[in-house]
Amino acid sequence: MEDYIKVKREVGNRKDEMWYAFLQDLKAGLCLTLGYLFKKKITMQYPYEKSTAEWSIPLRWRGLHALSADENGRLKCIMCLQCMKICPDHCIKIRFSGAGKERVLEEFTVDLSRCSACGLCFEACPVNSITKAIVPTEKYELSVYSREGLVYKKEDLLKNWYDSVKSRIALEKAENMKKEEVKKEEKSVES
Ligand code: SF4
Ligand code: SF4
Repeated sequence: MEDYIKVKREVGNRKDEMWYAFLQDLKAGLCLTLGYLFKKKITMQYPYEKSTAEWSIPLRWRGLHALSADENGRLKCIMCLQCMKICPDHCIKIRFSGAGKERVLEEFTVDLSRCSACGLCFEACPVNSITKAIVPTEKYELSVYSREGLVYKKEDLLKNWYDSVKSRIALEKAENMKKEEVKKEEKSVES
């Protein structure tokens, strides 16, 4: 009988300990949740919102490819084929006619259905007049209904460049504004 009472007491103590641990965990979880309830919300309602005052796509994002052009609208590509040769997934196809300085770029396609976003094509490009001839953009929405839709032709890549230039100007403005706000806050804290 004594053994029975002893075992029953031990089981009871263990149950109390378990309840205590459970309630402690619950308390910690609820405190954390309540803390977040009163903090500033950072959730973004994608795809209805693409950026917020606190967050926009970083300028260094390696997104969709683009072929850059100079101020006269001429492609910077010198048809050296370096990007095509280095691509490990054989995504890039380049075809040109003529020879030497008379070369004309007939075809430049990037098949993004095969691309592993390694960035080697951007690195390999020898052109370096402000930007390389092939560059990554901040575009990240690439969903299409067919594989063919992922094959970007020369014209599409040039359009990506102009779209990117516009959005980069906006992004740079937003980043500068954020930096100025941070500076103002720092100054107000110091004074
Ligand atoms: S990012 Fe890499 S895989 Fe994609 S096209 Fe460039 S080299 Fe090829
Ligand atoms: S590496 Fe640059 S310059 Fe050479 S073909 Fe590719 S995009 Fe054109």
